[in-house]
Amino acid sequence: MMKRRPALKTALGLGFLLFIRYLASSPADVVLARIDKLQAENIPAHQRNQIIGLQELNASWVVKIPRDVQEALLNEGISCETLDPAPAGKSYFLIFTPRPADPEVLGRYGQTKILDDQTCLFWTDDGREAREVLPADFKIKSLSLEDRISLSFDEKMAAGPGRVMGRALKPPVYDPLISQMVNRVSESTLSNSILNLQNFQTRYASMANCDSAGDYLYGFFVQHGLACEFDPFSFSSNRYNSKNVVATLPGKTFPQYIVIICAHYDSYSNQAETLAPGADDNASGTAAVMEIARILAEYSFDFTLKFIGFSAEEFGLYGSKHYAQEAKARGEKIMGVINMDMIAYADRLPEDLDLVVNLRSEWLANRFSICASIYTPLDLLKVVNANFRYSDHSSFWDQGYSAVCGIEDSIVTNPYYHKTTDTYGTLNMDFAASVTKIALAVAAGLAQPAIQ
Ligand SMILES: [Zn+2]
Repeated sequence: MMKRRPALKTALGLGFLLFIRYLASSPADVVLARIDKLQAENIPAHQRNQIIGLQELNASWVVKIPRDVQEALLNEGISCETLDPAPAGKSYFLIFTPRPADPEVLGRYGQTKILDDQTCLFWTDDGREAREVLPADFKIKSLSLEDRISLSFDEKMAAGPGRVMGRALKPPVYDPLISQMVNRVSESTLSNSILNLQNFQTRYASMANCDSAGDYLYGFFVQHGLACEFDPFSFSSNRYNSKNVVATLPGKTFPQYIVIICAHYDSYSNQAETLAPGADDNASGTAAVMEIARILAEYSFDFTLKFIGFSAEEFGLYGSKHYAQEAKARGEKIMGVINMDMIAYADRLPEDLDLVVNLRSEWLANRFSICASIYTPLDLLKVVNANFRYSDHSSFWDQGYSAVCGIEDSIVTNPYYHKTTDTYGTLNMDFAASVTKIALAVAAGLAQPAIQ
């Protein structure tokens, strides 16, 4: 017994030291940093494993990295800029900063760092939501230390044709049945849906009226024969609760493969708690999802179609982030996501539709072009920009899925944007109907009408 004591003491001492080291390497010793993609191939493999990707941008990644690994990288001459040396317990936001003065403006409301082209990181010292402190015209995406993206250090993401079951998808060809569906898109049904959504006065995600708008959406989907469920979530450290609305048309042949058509139904304005009609942003996109659901519900398809209204997009894409992360965790096979956000304001005629994609999703924008040439003419502008993260498509990009955002102008020109004057009377319903028709054709073509 006597002989063993020193050994026990040593073991206890060693254990204690290891425990201290464990504490030292716990969250307190992690840094929020930015890594240049061009530098990535110089990072040795054993260090790559210790870097956790949080957000991909055009030229860089936002990462969580142990302090000692960052120091080792810097010693090897690999740039790894510190964004926040003490990130534990904080929440961050990406902010779209297209105007030269934007970064300086942000600095008046909290901490800010320039990340990439037209992109700043922002956070408040007291943990308040960016939406609740920043001027109304900023676009916001939340960024959490718990987020995960895969860092593709070696692969250059190729712009493929889109694949399902290991096979490349064929490009769309004229289908009389899809043409019939397209011709059923009704401007008056679209208008009704926009007016109904606008009549909730506000759909700001922290308010009860937003919840009622979610119930309205649910009722609409059920009325048209679709199975529907709520996908509840909370955000802002559980201060607020909201819900996505998910309607499903199960595929007849391969139901495990899913095509998603989505839009956010929540709204925002400079008086969001009392009045945020959000007719263009984004009753227009929501109405398009409802219209496509109404029509496609009467047909059957090989693959599953999901029609989703997301909430809390305006706070920083919280609803779609919740949905996409859970879908990924369930191993859901999402073939492609069509997101519509502001599709009814024309700042000039003819208005064109911007299709925002990352490289991986470029094939989806290409299908829009083909469908426009086959079914209904509309000018389209493909915008390949992984920095455009400010709508729900981006939550799917983060999980490695293909997604496209249809938007009237990716740099907003609507003068009523995020104002109490964003109302039905300012919209061009002809344009909204054309966008809805093409989105329907793309969705129906991807889901493949089933042979009866
Ligand atoms: Zn929007």
